[in-house]
Amino acid sequence: MMKERFYKFIPITLIMINSGIWLLAFLFYNIKGSNKALFFYPIIQTLLFLYCGIVINKLYWETNKDSLTNIYNRKYFFAKISSFPEMEYPISLMMIDIDNFKRVNDTYGHLAGDEFLRQFAEILVINIRSTDIVARLGGEEFAIVLPKTCCKDVYIIAERIKEVIESNIFRFGTITCKMTISIGISTSDYPVNTDHLLKNADIALYKAKEIKNSVVAYEHL
Ligand code: GH3
Ligand code: MG
Ligand code: MG
Repeated sequence: MMKERFYKFIPITLIMINSGIWLLAFLFYNIKGSNKALFFYPIIQTLLFLYCGIVINKLYWETNKDSLTNIYNRKYFFAKISSFPEMEYPISLMMIDIDNFKRVNDTYGHLAGDEFLRQFAEILVINIRSTDIVARLGGEEFAIVLPKTCCKDVYIIAERIKEVIESNIFRFGTITCKMTISIGISTSDYPVNTDHLLKNADIALYKAKEIKNSVVAYEHL
């Protein structure tokens, strides 16, 4: 409760603390004639700034990451996908949807489902390059954007990810579970409206869902 109030009034609280620090320094210097305060208070102020920096950093990541899987969230992903410079093209996009995930939840429970989603996200992170960005768009839907990746290459990467997931055993306590995914991919050779890229990957995913456990490229439709 105390912490909540502190965050609610944080701008005014910090201004007051800072003013208090310098008022005390001024009083010590003028009344007591001690100039120790002039050395001591900048240190307090530096620590205060450091604390603010840590809080801002923490908040930045919290607004951009998905709390369940700790990978990027939808908000960050959509902001990022439209900000790639021309030299990063061609850019490819993968839309991934776990097959029959409702059944997984119904069979093993929501807690197991949550754990499988976490393990699933970890597998995606391990299987991408450091320049790729993976995000959870919501529920059991994920997306990966791959800069400097042509249609042929993204297809190979998507097939590999599909196979890694298919052969993985997801575990929650004594429960073990196998899952498959459907992937829709699309590529853009030059910067156009990224909505187009997203829409095409979505169409490809829709087609992949008709078969399940498959990869469909929009360019092959
Ligand atoms: P399809 O193969 O057609 O994709 O079927 P599906 O069951 O995967 O898809 P559907 O959209 O019918 O259900 C998605 C399920 O994902 C429903 C919901 O219970 C589950 N889900 C969504 N978000 C979460 C979550 O954060 N945790 C857990 N455990 N389950 C979730
Ligand atoms: Mg879905
Ligand atoms: Mg699904």
